[in-house]
Amino acid sequence: MNHNLILSIRERYQRVLQKIEESAEKSGRSVEAIRLVAVSKSQPLEVIKAAMEVGIKRFGENYVEEAVEKISLAGETGVEWHMIGHLQSRKAEMVVAHFTMLHSLDSAKLARRLDRFCGTHVRKLPVLVEFNVSGEESKFGLSAWDEEKWPELSTEIEGILIQQHLEVLGLMTMPPYFENPEQTRPYFRKLRKLQKFLIKRYPEAVWNELSMGTSVDYVAAIQEGATYIRIGQAILGPRPQ
Ligand SMILES: *Cc1c(COP(=O)(O)O)cnc(C)c1O
Repeated sequence: MNHNLILSIRERYQRVLQKIEESAEKSGRSVEAIRLVAVSKSQPLEVIKAAMEVGIKRFGENYVEEAVEKISLAGETGVEWHMIGHLQSRKAEMVVAHFTMLHSLDSAKLARRLDRFCGTHVRKLPVLVEFNVSGEESKFGLSAWDEEKWPELSTEIEGILIQQHLEVLGLMTMPPYFENPEQTRPYFRKLRKLQKFLIKRYPEAVWNELSMGTSVDYVAAIQEGATYIRIGQAILGPRPQ
């Protein structure tokens, strides 16, 4: 075990935990309502093992094959694995077989495939629906930048909600990158506004969770109601190229 690695991750982790606590307190929220996903994409197994040693129990990965390999090698029970990156339909079964939860469900077609594999694997899969609230073309998610077109999301949303093995729990977004989190804040607000819209339109469904905020802007995300924050570099250090 690499002790310097453990020490540096512990230090960064504690700093982040402290900031989460402060931001929760300042915005009058309970810290238990904010769950941290340590984003370990592109990080070697050594970093994940060190993070586990520090007590981190929830990891986020973007690339399915890479993740599945690390998940089997990490071999620790009691750890949650969250798929947060874009998922191609043909890799759906790997997510059903290996992950705790999916943050990036972005079509009814993918939902149908996941549901079918959940049937064969006899499990339910908790999911968040990913929305693109910025209109930025490089971002995935159901297109939701134009509020007037929110009602048009119904075909996709209903195609997702109808799947018996998927537990829809809320919304996720990945806004454009800005160094200044104040520039990201409007997108967090927009996701929360969309959440209110969905609650009104589909009151029988569950829309509690908001997965938003990364290393640079998690404080703003917490202030805007995030229940999952996805933090990579601020805890695990820079990603290897
Ligand atoms: C990489 C990534 C993160 C974390 O980014 P950091 O800058 O390392 O905190 C969060 N969410 C998604 C979807 C990502 O791809």
